[in-house]
Amino acid sequence: MGGYSSQTSDATGRVSPAGPERRYNQRMRIETLAVHAGAGIDEATRAVIPAIHVSTTFERHEDGTYPRGFNYTRSGNPTRQALETALAALEGGVAAAAFASGSAATAAVFQALEPGAHVIAPDDAYYGTPVMLREQFARWGLQTTFVDMTDPGAVKRALTPSTRLIWIETPSNPRLHVTDIVAMVALAKTIGARTVVDNTWATPVLQRPLELGVDFVMHSTTKYLSGHSDVLGGAVVARTMDGVFDRIRSIQTTLGAVPSPFDCWLVLRGMRSLPYRMRGHVEGAQRVAGYLAAHPGVARVYYPGLLTDPGYEVASRQMRQPGGMLSFDVHGGRAEAFALVNRFKLVTRATSLGGPETLIEHRASVEGEHTRAPESLLRVSIGLEHPDDLIDDFAQALEG
Ligand SMILES: *Cc1c(COP(=O)(O)O)cnc(C)c1O
Repeated sequence: MGGYSSQTSDATGRVSPAGPERRYNQRMRIETLAVHAGAGIDEATRAVIPAIHVSTTFERHEDGTYPRGFNYTRSGNPTRQALETALAALEGGVAAAAFASGSAATAAVFQALEPGAHVIAPDDAYYGTPVMLREQFARWGLQTTFVDMTDPGAVKRALTPSTRLIWIETPSNPRLHVTDIVAMVALAKTIGARTVVDNTWATPVLQRPLELGVDFVMHSTTKYLSGHSDVLGGAVVARTMDGVFDRIRSIQTTLGAVPSPFDCWLVLRGMRSLPYRMRGHVEGAQRVAGYLAAHPGVARVYYPGLLTDPGYEVASRQMRQPGGMLSFDVHGGRAEAFALVNRFKLVTRATSLGGPETLIEHRASVEGEHTRAPESLLRVSIGLEHPDDLIDDFAQALEG
């Protein structure tokens, strides 16, 4: 870590001595931060757009020091530092650690806990998170209780003297459960546990967990942040510099699940347009959710933007807008869901989310044996097509 870590730590202020000239401050709006954070005119070349620094190694001074704080790319890289600065700025954190995938970022948070620690996690969450806890971190000695986090009482009852972490995902995958972030922070405080929000679905444009007292935000930057379905990445952003974040940073650099400079650059490039893309995703999702909620061929819509949704009240308090993801149940089960999914023409049958193209998937069959997703459920990532064209495609598919 050494000099690099102290230089990257302060994403709200200083940059490395010969770093780019900053044109923004943390009080600016998120549209402005998205365009300028981690960017600036390069002093050596006057380039407006940050370079992709592919060098794995950096020259030392005669006295043995590293003039710009970089010595080896696993420990620190200028392109990764630019991405981390931007991630910290958008989430309102003090520092960020970028990883090769969202899963590597999640793993780093769990690896930062001591064996024997107790974790509370939601029963509806990105499938890989409980799988990781059960298959890898149970052997590591972590004990996990899965609860319905829409019920703060259930979380309170799950607390034990060894609870060290409450893992929150809101809105959750695939049933769009909404967890009251402020209530979780208050519960964690009663026993000195940390809180983490997987903010992948909401993005910092729609939800700012660190401002609500959460300790860490985790992202799969593979999704909305990069936004073009062409790069894998992850990140952990810290509200304050603390010992747990130091450990996460050290896990990043010593265990080495770091993103390549090119991947960092792609994520950063995508983030420039994040606030404006989110407007399009949300507009489309609101239109499609309203359409589906009124359609007799649909049994139930899961979308916290609908007044009838159980998550509406909490989501409208802690999110700026309800997001670009929704799920719905068909009447029937797997056969009816598959029949419907195969009738779409514009919407693509594929997993993942957050890209410009609308994707639909039968979540239970993607997740496999231990899935908790209903067989009748289809999950939709609303892309950036015109909402009328999306509704036309849903209409013709539901007609069939
Ligand atoms: C995709 C996703 C992850 C995992 O991220 P990867 O980049 O695929 O490793 C974690 N959480 C959520 C909510 C996701 O959508």
